Amino acid sequence: MHTSENKKAYISELFSGIQGEGLWVGLRQIFLRFSGCDLRCQWCDTPNSLNIKQNSFAKIEKTAGKRDFEEFKNPLSFDFLLESIYSLEKDFKHHSISLTGGEPLLQANFIKDFIIDLKKNSSLLIYLETGGHRFEELEQLINNLDIISFDLKLPSSTGEKPLWEQHCKFIELIKKYNKKAYAKMVLTSQTTKHDLEQSFDLMKNSIENCTLVLQPVTSSDLSLIPSPKQILNWQAMGINQLKSPNIRVIPQTHKFIGQI
Ligand code: SF4
Repeated sequence: MHTSENKKAYISELFSGIQGEGLWVGLRQIFLRFSGCDLRCQWCDTPNSLNIKQNSFAKIEKTAGKRDFEEFKNPLSFDFLLESIYSLEKDFKHHSISLTGGEPLLQANFIKDFIIDLKKNSSLLIYLETGGHRFEELEQLINNLDIISFDLKLPSSTGEKPLWEQHCKFIELIKKYNKKAYAKMVLTSQTTKHDLEQSFDLMKNSIENCTLVLQPVTSSDLSLIPSPKQILNWQAMGINQLKSPNIRVIPQTHKFIGQI
């Protein structure tokens, strides 16, 4: 009997797409978007994935890249999700699977066993995209991750409360387990020098092994978008404070080419 037979997850969508952010930009991935998030960033680009709702439906793509979604009632079973992923993977080989959200670590208990099965039965690399604050949940499953994309949430950018302590513990775990990772900071025109300095400080002992990505916000509110001068200044500040050139500016490229 499958030990995870009874495990279920709240999913927002599953589809094949192009990674638009960060170090693995441009690679073809399967995206598994978990529902639920404990934060409310003012520029959140997945507002439909913020809540776990009993009567919600997950959109599951049937053929990789065809956008032929079918809806299934949440929560979804372990085996149904695995089969749906392997079915997309049969259409063609994907580089990796992105476990994203929402905040996927809210469902760490499910993911922990799920990625063991994925590792056993596919060649998909496991990419976790997280807000970078739920360190206890990260430790439950960190061993089976291939790369961690984590955010540093700047209060002046997100409109949320500071999470410096949580981010610090999160980074310590990545170091302890010697995991491949990169940190991402979404920056708006309202980002303050104080928050940038705090974030660079958090990265000071990790920057050689963990790239820092500055991501100018994508927003229909043009007043939130940082100016070209701000972006140049912020990258230079980081290079100076961290004494490292390992700081890249990468916008959300999937938005430019009309991808979801
Ligand atoms: S952490 Fe991510 S999913 Fe949650 S509110 Fe912020 S941007 Fe949206």
